[in-house]
Amino acid sequence: MRVLLIEDEAAIAEFVQRGLQEYHYHVTVAADGETGLRLALEERFGVIILDLMLPRRDGLSVCRELRERRVTTPILMLTARDAVRDRVRGLETGADDYLCKPFDFSELLARVQALARRDRIHKGRTIRVADLEVDTTARTVTRGGRRMDLTAREYELLEALAAHEGQILSREVIQERVWMDDESYSNTVDVHIKGLRKKIDADFPVKLIHTVYGQGYVLEVRDPAPKAETPQASTSRGTSR
Ligand code: CA
Repeated sequence: MRVLLIEDEAAIAEFVQRGLQEYHYHVTVAADGETGLRLALEERFGVIILDLMLPRRDGLSVCRELRERRVTTPILMLTARDAVRDRVRGLETGADDYLCKPFDFSELLARVQALARRDRIHKGRTIRVADLEVDTTARTVTRGGRRMDLTAREYELLEALAAHEGQILSREVIQERVWMDDESYSNTVDVHIKGLRKKIDADFPVKLIHTVYGQGYVLEVRDPAPKAETPQASTSRGTSR
């Protein structure tokens, strides 16, 4: 598979290129945003690794331009540690995943492989998780072969979750991606999740949408939780709920 690496720091570029080559990826390196954008538009790559801080044109701008021009190649964005804002912006502009610098090569490899795999699923234009099918071309959803009637927002929300199967999406990221809005931290996301669950999960024994306390939501198939007895629960401060 061909990988385009847009990275201006020569040492990092070389480290990544050498590593990926060992795994038989063919890596093309661009040392500035303008060159990277041109290569991404002219040639076909399986995955694009895009640094955020670049000379001539920054990573966000490159990412936005590619998506505007309907280049759907998966993009892994490289960001500085702790730059939450950058990560959210990256996802908002159309990056598929991000990795914080400094990173271990093994983590980068795992992300690249995951993106390539996800892209193959997407190429079929249908995302499948258990008996749920999301047709991203027709924007239709079926579960167990039954057509689900979703609102546009619910569809967007479900597609975002399904495309990141097994990955926790925070309310903030969902809000940014689905509502293109990071100002109002209302309960909008929770309300729509509730509606979506009613349609997607309520009538089915296997639940797909899960709340991860304090973190967000994840769509995945989980092993049915064993009905474990929790005797110590009653000793903690009286009645809760
Ligand atoms: Ca850089």
